[in-house]
Amino acid sequence: MSYLVFARKWRPQTFSDVIAQEHVTKTLCNAIDSERIGHAYLFTGPRGVGKTTTARILAKALNCENGPTPDPCMECEACKRIAAGGYLDVLEIDGASNRGIDEIRDLREKARYAAAEGGYKIYIIDEVHMLTREAFNALLKILEEPPDKVIFIFATTEPRKVPATILSRCQRFDFRRIPSSVMGAYIKDEAGKEGITIDPDALSLVCRASGGSMRDALSIMDQLVSFAGKVIAGESVSKLLGLVEADLLAEISDAVLHSRGAVALDLVEDALVRGYSIEELIDALVGFLRNLLLAASGAEKGITDLSDSEIVLIQQTVAGVSDVHVLNILRLVGGAANQIRAGASPRISLEAALITASKFGIAFGFENLPSVVESVAVTAVKTEERVESESKSPTAGMVPDNGAKSVTEVSSVAEQPSAVAAVKKNEVVEEIDKSEKEKENSYVRKVSGLFDMIPENG
Ligand SMILES: [Zn+2]
Repeated sequence: MSYLVFARKWRPQTFSDVIAQEHVTKTLCNAIDSERIGHAYLFTGPRGVGKTTTARILAKALNCENGPTPDPCMECEACKRIAAGGYLDVLEIDGASNRGIDEIRDLREKARYAAAEGGYKIYIIDEVHMLTREAFNALLKILEEPPDKVIFIFATTEPRKVPATILSRCQRFDFRRIPSSVMGAYIKDEAGKEGITIDPDALSLVCRASGGSMRDALSIMDQLVSFAGKVIAGESVSKLLGLVEADLLAEISDAVLHSRGAVALDLVEDALVRGYSIEELIDALVGFLRNLLLAASGAEKGITDLSDSEIVLIQQTVAGVSDVHVLNILRLVGGAANQIRAGASPRISLEAALITASKFGIAFGFENLPSVVESVAVTAVKTEERVESESKSPTAGMVPDNGAKSVTEVSSVAEQPSAVAAVKKNEVVEEIDKSEKEKENSYVRKVSGLFDMIPENG
């Protein structure tokens, strides 16, 4: 089987072939039926959900020799040539590479001439938000006085970047992300027709990796067939896409949920040895914890995208655990992920978050919470000291409100009436450090960047 077979074969050719965008295709069909055809359309939505495909189908519907008709015949010269991209009066323009005023002026000149083939002249401008301001102004002049039988179809992933003057002259259609259930059923069906079997785990991974974009899902399928042949299992998808296996995520989560921080760190080490990056691991872990949170809180609608075996795994991991417990852990790990994106050391951030999170373990309940908060306060004080000595400005730096509050609380507990504030803080730090040193499990304290791991409201 040759590469790209899916992407080519599965391109919708009629309105009824377009998946999960019935709200758009139905309205367009009605407009064609009742001969209320607009001069300008704006198709918005995420990439790969059918915007340009629908634009081409609309072009066929309008120029079909039996049309305008909502059901282009696919047999006539016009239908065939539009599908093949060789029809003179249907012009596809990439807004990203033709974004200047000259290109749009040129377009404006040519739009004045009647369609060479006698039907509608249709301009499909993809990524229209990329046009310059001058180009938009030139475009606006055509839209204000549109030549007869000239139709513009603009496609964009970023409608906010399209000027209001343009928007107000377009009929707007918002395309939606394709739900996993619809995409999965479609892919399974079509793959079956090609003699390809794909197991439920693999199907669910493909749908999730696509992010709701059919184009991405199809390109993953193409790669999978080249990689794994005609029988596709979840493992192949994980390997191909570098996805972290759900089993590993469940083991790490389980360790953290049950206060086994060291086990969690060992699992991280194993994952790194197996070739995952910290970034891949932490993003996958945040996604998994989110699913655990939904399961723990009983809001299971959001996890129906997963395969049955993954749902069982999540339910097993979260059994007997409260949603608040999962939420606290998710906040810590999510905070660490954000810090890594902002440039913090990936490994230290993840490890510190996992160890801190494991302090919330159900084996200890929340009585462990004070020592964690204390550690946070120590780091907050240290951070403030550092910031003060470096910038001489107590308000400068990165100490969030809640951190500052902890500092105040810790300071006031040990306050001596005559002492100077800065000296007091140093004393508090030393005092807490001393008591902390007596504690055995002090990994948290050793990591000076700990405070960075705690999310804003965590
Ligand atoms: Zn036709």
